Amino acid sequence: MSSSQVIIALTKGRILDEVLPLFEQTDIIPLEDIKNSRKLIFDTNRDNIQLMVMRGSDVPTYVEFGSADMGVVGKDLLMEYGSEEFYEPLDLKLARCRLMTAEPTNPGPIQGRPKVATKFVNIAKKYFAEQGKQIELIKLNGALELAPAMGLADSIVDIVDTGNTLKANGLEPKELIAQISSRVIVNKASMKIKNTAIREILGKLREAVANNQ
Ligand code: AMP
Repeated sequence: MSSSQVIIALTKGRILDEVLPLFEQTDIIPLEDIKNSRKLIFDTNRDNIQLMVMRGSDVPTYVEFGSADMGVVGKDLLMEYGSEEFYEPLDLKLARCRLMTAEPTNPGPIQGRPKVATKFVNIAKKYFAEQGKQIELIKLNGALELAPAMGLADSIVDIVDTGNTLKANGLEPKELIAQISSRVIVNKASMKIKNTAIREILGKLREAVANNQ
């Protein structure tokens, strides 16, 4: 692969919807309709830039191991992944939300250690340890909001945007764990080897973010 060929791993879903217009502003435009294609890798109008689309939780892995040079992923998933094996040079300030604890609006009595359901087990473990709270973690991959109503957990740790999902399930947000937004990450070796190309992309993205504020 050429020393200026840059592969960028993008998170599909909500982040992709917000990131594609930003990329367009920086003149990185996929040659096909990324959102409706079944392909996973796309050429762009720029000969030396390709885009990959994947689940956000896989973006840090691709970038850490250098299969992608750069990535765009939510801070929640970066915190959960917990590696320092890549650079995180830019906050795109997109797909903003909050990582919070949430509890039933009318909580019942808690027996023994409180049970907390989440897919962010590493973040939750660290957070409650820092708070000096003894809890039992229950790992779920989705439908977290159901867990308290079904007696599986006393509270949850989840992403909150408007709070409507919590409210619809009889829950309310409690403690703020972190403000979340989409971040650019860069493989450490790529940053050295493909420095000119990556710096150019980062510079233009930084400018677009500033213009959008
Ligand atoms: P809301 O009802 O607006 O609070 O949205 C909450 C749900 O939407 C959560 O269960 C999240 O899974 C999802 N969500 C909201 N914002 C984001 C985001 N920026 N990134 C990923 N998921 C999000």
